Amino acid sequence: MSDFNPAAWRAFASVIGSEWVMSSDDDRHAYSDHYAADESTHAPAGAVAPASVEEVQAIVRIANQFKVPLWPISRGKNFGYGGSAPVMKGSVVLDLTRMKKIEVDQANGTVLVEPGVGFFDLYDYLQNNKIPLWISVPGNSWGSVAGNALDRGVGYTSYGDHAAQICGLEVVLPDGDLVRTGMGAMANSPVWNLHRYGFGPSWDGMFCQSNFGIVTKLGMWLMPEPEAVAGYDFEFDQPDDLGWVIDTIMPLRRSGLIRQSPSIGNWLRSAAVMTTREEWTSDNGPLSESVVTAIRKRFNIGWWSVQIRFYGEEEIVQASMRVLERAFDNKPILSKVPTMWRRGDAPEGTPMTGVPVSFPLANANWHGGRGGHVGYSPVLPPSGDLAMAQFRRTYALYEKYGMDYHASFAMGERSLTNVNQILYNKDDAEMMGRVDAMFRELVADAKAQGYGEYRTHIDYMDLVAETFDFNGNALRRLNERVKDALDPNGILAPGKSGIWPKGARA
Ligand code: ADP
Repeated sequence: MSDFNPAAWRAFASVIGSEWVMSSDDDRHAYSDHYAADESTHAPAGAVAPASVEEVQAIVRIANQFKVPLWPISRGKNFGYGGSAPVMKGSVVLDLTRMKKIEVDQANGTVLVEPGVGFFDLYDYLQNNKIPLWISVPGNSWGSVAGNALDRGVGYTSYGDHAAQICGLEVVLPDGDLVRTGMGAMANSPVWNLHRYGFGPSWDGMFCQSNFGIVTKLGMWLMPEPEAVAGYDFEFDQPDDLGWVIDTIMPLRRSGLIRQSPSIGNWLRSAAVMTTREEWTSDNGPLSESVVTAIRKRFNIGWWSVQIRFYGEEEIVQASMRVLERAFDNKPILSKVPTMWRRGDAPEGTPMTGVPVSFPLANANWHGGRGGHVGYSPVLPPSGDLAMAQFRRTYALYEKYGMDYHASFAMGERSLTNVNQILYNKDDAEMMGRVDAMFRELVADAKAQGYGEYRTHIDYMDLVAETFDFNGNALRRLNERVKDALDPNGILAPGKSGIWPKGARA
């Protein structure tokens, strides 16, 4: 049993039933971060799984009474960032997977989901009910619609900035009060999930990557099924192609012609889900050029690859394709493969068309053993030169620490998010000994350029929060003031995003 008051466990059980209070060693293991170098650092005390908003409120009140820290998760599949594990060891995971209601407003193209609704659940619901709305899914789509949006996850369609599609939240505050944001603040509002703002300050953003509330319903805009989806899959041969490719695509991104975020990834991003390292070499040192070339040849991939898609009426999509072709005219492309999907065709089956997949999880097998990875994702201005410089500096650090470079640059409307993964084998103690120092040096390297991360693993939330240092970390002071006001007992997700309740601050 866990180390805190058994009376708290009994109180939780009296509200949700003892079968939904989980505090055995097996339970604690199940809710750990299985990708973490040391799972014990963030070991939870156990988990409680309420089925309704009222039960969430009751649990929050008990947590205040017994001063028990709660760590809310929707589906807890946030691997690479902590999975279901809390920042603070001994927290109780508040598992919301049993809350699975879906309400679709077909006419207006919105959905209201409870936290337990996974991407596969919502996809199946829309398909089974023949509702012509598309979802946007992240590469690993086994998580939840709400949890992913709240952590500012991304997808590949025009609706791929998931936090930006949020429209209206229902939130249990740390004292158990219940609020609805935006127009939902008016009882029975028919525009809660249709209009982004309400009256007065807007609060939706404050519940993303925060520990200020537990979201129990989340409104989200969905893409009306397009008439056509067309695009190109491009491959490029040389590491140095990164810069000009970004400078070619970005003007079309800024102008609004391209309305999704093309993500240019290196060969390992593609290869690590299709093969394992030991198939190619038994040498633990850096991969030789000949190995990289052999892998690329087998899978027919460039050093960099990018997929671009247009969504909408066929005439417009076709015209957009011509503009894209013109932009790449006479450029040194290794290959380009056109794609075209028309309404009525079988689903293309990829995240580019909003179909959930989980095969990218296979990259955990790259090194063999018990695999895992941690994400390092700084945000930089959308310039080819800066991307090249970022690539070279990061590549050099991967080499210094003897790790295989795994990177992508996602082109937002006005920024680049450089998502890197450090793939590892947890059973290789020597390799694991290098990961932490490498990660810290990467964060410091980005900070020296003025770049911060868009998201980070629970191990590094303090480290990353520290880098947001304008005016002596004024943002932290603001966050702490809000935290103290809303959560005086500090029961909700202590340490999330570097926000600690009073009494627990360094
Ligand atoms: P997923 O369901 O995609 O696996 P997680 O449940 O792992 O996502 O959650 C991702 C992050 O968002 C975690 O840090 C978690 O604490 C936070 N989070 C998830 N769901 C909620 C929620 N309903 N309310 C508040 N924070 C949440």
